Amino acid sequence: MVYELCAEYAEYAGAAGAAGGDTATPIKLWHMIRNAGTDALCGRALRPHAETRSDLEWGTIHPVCHTCGALYLRQVP
Ligand SMILES: [Zn+2]
Repeated sequence: MVYELCAEYAEYAGAAGAAGGDTATPIKLWHMIRNAGTDALCGRALRPHAETRSDLEWGTIHPVCHTCGALYLRQVP
């Protein structure tokens, strides 16, 4: 089983450009996915091309989904 952190992005409420011209979409929360899927352990559906990080960064990256964290720690020895 391969675990990875996967980004959930904040949704803009029609306020494009409100962040001073910064076009990068802010990351709302990091979830844990399995085997490069798009469904987080907590059941949240993530974007197919969302940014991912190694699960080794768990604990150093914030903010993370607490539900995914609890499930991940239960599944990984
Ligand atoms: Zn989650």
